[in-house]
Amino acid sequence: MTDTTYKYFHAIQILEDNCTGCTACVRVCPTEAIRVRDRKAYLDPTRCIDCGNCVTACKFHAIIPRSDSLKAINKYKYSVAIISAAYFGQFTEDISYPVAKAAILELGFDEVAEEASITEFMIDVIREYIRENRDKRPILSSNCPAVVRLIQVQYPSLLPSLYLRETPMSVLTRFIRDKVTKEKNLQDDELGIFLIVPCVAHVTAVHQPEGVNKHLQDGAFSIGMIYGRVREYLKNLQNNPPEIDTYPKGLTWALSGVQAELVDCDDIRTLSVNGIDNVMEILSRVEDHYLDQYDYIVLRSCTNGCVGGCLNVENPFVAMSRIKKMIKEGDVTEVDLSGIETMYRAGEFDVDQLSARPIMELDKDIKAAIKKMKQINEFLTMLPGLNCSACGSPTCYALAEDIVMGKASIEDCVVLLKRQSKEEE
Ligand code: SF4
Ligand code: SF4
Repeated sequence: MTDTTYKYFHAIQILEDNCTGCTACVRVCPTEAIRVRDRKAYLDPTRCIDCGNCVTACKFHAIIPRSDSLKAINKYKYSVAIISAAYFGQFTEDISYPVAKAAILELGFDEVAEEASITEFMIDVIREYIRENRDKRPILSSNCPAVVRLIQVQYPSLLPSLYLRETPMSVLTRFIRDKVTKEKNLQDDELGIFLIVPCVAHVTAVHQPEGVNKHLQDGAFSIGMIYGRVREYLKNLQNNPPEIDTYPKGLTWALSGVQAELVDCDDIRTLSVNGIDNVMEILSRVEDHYLDQYDYIVLRSCTNGCVGGCLNVENPFVAMSRIKKMIKEGDVTEVDLSGIETMYRAGEFDVDQLSARPIMELDKDIKAAIKKMKQINEFLTMLPGLNCSACGSPTCYALAEDIVMGKASIEDCVVLLKRQSKEEE
């Protein structure tokens, strides 16, 4: 059912003045969330999953990502940055891992933490969940917020297959919130916890988290924006190398395939998939029970995993190679996670079963809906079937649907118009 009252947050924004109506965004959107009418793009907020494909595809900067301003940290007595593992793939190899990490503190944070620090703990927790839920096969990872939303919008029958525990970033947030408020004697609202993230889906997940009811993070900053800011501190930090803990062995979270390999063991078989088209193909196969032989499938919307997010600055393949080098060359760092196991056993990281996202329905009245379906099929027989998107709808079927729903007209089809004018000549 379409919920017209619910307001979806999206971490992308369309700048109408910059839009030329080229329809590149329409063609890359996996959920058909964009239309172009009167040479301007607009978004259907119920369908958008914040995959960021349109941000990358628009060459006119008409679709831009949204993230928080660094000024937000000034509102808090104490602020902590949690860094996505993908951040460390953005720097040239002469910038060391400790330097890149210490540079974040220069931005005004009191403390800095890394998603990578809890990798070992997360691997154990995921394996335990897989073994405890033998009736669910395959279990689908919920680490990528764009994939979770894709399942809510297009594959709702697979919602019970999702891994129902917090993501590493959220586990770490809860752990830090608990620890720092106690150690520093702070009220919950005096502590600001911010994520440094590689993609718009993570920004949306901070502002509109799924399946959790408690206060999590206080904002999200794009890696691209942070990268631009920290560059001025790098030289000085390189000359005075900082003493700061790093977790090279845990950087696997940024790379789709490596994370799956770590969970894989004698009694757990995993599969790793990245890139939104591959993810959609695999989800269709899971729906058809072709992949029941796998225990756990890691799904990431972006190429190569989080290193492929649209808020990064480096090419995903280069970033992946740099992170792999850090993993190979780095030492194991001891992490003090005392208390995290207790929180886990107390159910602090449990997530509610997610529900399907309501998208457009033809009509509330079933008879009227059947009539509209017939009209759609009639229009479809008139359209050329080229799925060229030149009309501003992603396919001929979508245009037929838009016409019946009063959002387009048959004259929007440029191919038909051309044919007609030729006939008239
Ligand atoms: S890609 Fe989409 S938003 Fe960008 S100019 Fe083309 S139609 Fe407009
Ligand atoms: S972010 Fe992804 S789902 Fe949302 S409009 Fe852009 S391409 Fe479509």
